[in-house]
Amino acid sequence: MSVLRIDARDGMARTGVLHTVHGDIRTPAFMPVATHASVKALDPDEVRQCGTDILLCNAYHLALRPGVDHVERAGGMHRFMGWDGPILTDSGGYQLVSLRGFAGIDEDGATFVSPYDGGRLFVTPEAAVDNQFRLGADIIMCLDHPVAFGTAADTALEATERTHRWAAHCRAAHPGQGRLLFGIAQGGFDIEARQKSAQAITKLDFDGIAVGGLAVGEPVDIMAEMAKASIAELPADRPRYFMGLGTDLELLTMVSLGFDMFDCVVPTRLARNATALTPWGRMPLRNARHRLDDTPVDPDCPCSTCKRFSRAYLRHLFAAGEILGHRLLTIHNITHLNRLMDGARTAITAGTFLEYRKQVVAQAKNREPVQAGGAGC
Ligand SMILES: [Zn+2]
Repeated sequence: MSVLRIDARDGMARTGVLHTVHGDIRTPAFMPVATHASVKALDPDEVRQCGTDILLCNAYHLALRPGVDHVERAGGMHRFMGWDGPILTDSGGYQLVSLRGFAGIDEDGATFVSPYDGGRLFVTPEAAVDNQFRLGADIIMCLDHPVAFGTAADTALEATERTHRWAAHCRAAHPGQGRLLFGIAQGGFDIEARQKSAQAITKLDFDGIAVGGLAVGEPVDIMAEMAKASIAELPADRPRYFMGLGTDLELLTMVSLGFDMFDCVVPTRLARNATALTPWGRMPLRNARHRLDDTPVDPDCPCSTCKRFSRAYLRHLFAAGEILGHRLLTIHNITHLNRLMDGARTAITAGTFLEYRKQVVAQAKNREPVQAGGAGC
């Protein structure tokens, strides 16, 4: 039986509920990233108040610091970090393309170099599953081998075939016990390889399937083409996760193709750089035009930041180096993406997803409407 209950479909888009032992996740869902078992600057209650159902933690980073044994002794990630909702852990495969510090890869696994102390960590597919299980993940990701955009076709194919062999090892090593295991389809930037990879991973009967190795610097149209090739081969009854994606329009494009789950560091990273996500695009709050701007970041946003604080105050906090600015803007940015997903769920249920997407696209192209009593410059 699938762990995903699909309640409504509109075109290829679908909405429903994904069941885990730590609660339900409304889909399509955005997962804020808590790499080190912390959504940077927020406590878990605030993360929940932003409309979040599930967090993404990084097993690779947690295995290096504080260590799997340490977290396990502390009662697992949920108890350690004070979050009682579902947690998905990334296995570390992405770090093979994003980190310069990985030492190598062979048939048995990947060797990483710790950015903290230079120590080496060798991870087999079996160890990746075991680490995530002991950390307490509700959704465990297979160890995979993604490649960067521009990698030679034969190297990409080799990495994809290794990903399939590792997926079989992960499947065999998974203890079950209510925890979910997701496979990861790769295929580089070749349509046929994408299709074959999705088929190979589907055969292993995972609880859900992720499409990986995209949004790594390729043009948007190529990303969409590859995502289409992958998703067409995935079983309709399983949750589908597009790994690492952050703009409103990209998210809705992937929802329209039938993806259910997304993650990205964009909302938290931008918040630390004084940039707000808004329906009109990114808003750099350090900009001088916000100096006397007493409007909230987004007047329609229900978050606690927009209810109480002005752009001028946020700008002041960043100018003064006050950490409250990071916190307040992180609350807003995560709420923004959760609202986008909430809007998608509502529209899919109502059969108006296409209109909703068009409306978001139109808003993004427009300049921000002028607010009464707003911005002096
Ligand atoms: Zn807000």
